[in-house]
Amino acid sequence: MDKQNIYLHLIINYLSHPETNLGRMAQLATEKIRENDLFKTFLTNHAGEAIDKTVSRLETEISPKISCTDCGNCCKSLMVNITRPEADAAAAHLGMSSADFDTRFVEKSEDGPLMIMNAIPCHFLENNACSIYEHRFAGCREFPALHLPEVNKRLFTIFMHYDRCPIIFNVMESLKVEMGFDASTMQCNL
Ligand code: SF4
Ligand code: SF4
Repeated sequence: MDKQNIYLHLIINYLSHPETNLGRMAQLATEKIRENDLFKTFLTNHAGEAIDKTVSRLETEISPKISCTDCGNCCKSLMVNITRPEADAAAAHLGMSSADFDTRFVEKSEDGPLMIMNAIPCHFLENNACSIYEHRFAGCREFPALHLPEVNKRLFTIFMHYDRCPIIFNVMESLKVEMGFDASTMQCNL
C-alpha cells in the first residue's frame, strides 16, 4: 500500500470507526505528546481559514458517530463558567430563586463577576444527559467548539481536551491524516 493509500485507509477508519474509549485515548495522548506538539506547530504555520473549513467538515462527519449521551465526559470533568443571565434563566426553569440557585450550585470569584458551577461532575448531569438541556450554558452549547473560527489560534485549549472529548480526539487525528502530517517520520508533507 503506497503512502497516499495508507492515508486514505486511515481517514476511512477514523471516519467510520472513531475511537471512543477514554482509557485508550489517554494512553494514546501520552504516546503522542511529541507528535501533537509538532502538529500544533504545523497548524500554527498554516492558513487558518483552510484549517477551520476542514475541521468543521470533519466534526460534521464524526460527531454523529459519537454518542454524547454514552460519553458525557465533558459534563463529568469540566468546570463550567456561567453568566448571571444564564444562572437566572436556569433558576427560573427550576422554579428557584436566583439566590437559592447560587447557594446550591454556584461559586463566585471574590472580587469579580466570574461564576462557575461548584461541582464536578455537573449537578445537572443525570443518567449521562443534561437535565436542563434547553437552558444549558453557553460553554456547554459551544463545547467542543470545533465549529468556531481560528482553530489554529485555539490549539492549546483544543489539545487540553484531546483525551477528554472523543470528538476532538478523532477530528484532530483525522486532520493529521488529511493534511499529510507524517507521524512516522515526524515530518509535515504539505
Ligand atoms: S449544564 Fe448540562 S450540558 Fe452543561 S455541564 Fe451541566 S450537565 Fe453538562
Ligand atoms: S462533547 Fe465530547 S466529551 Fe462531551 S459528551 Fe460529547 S463526545 Fe463526550
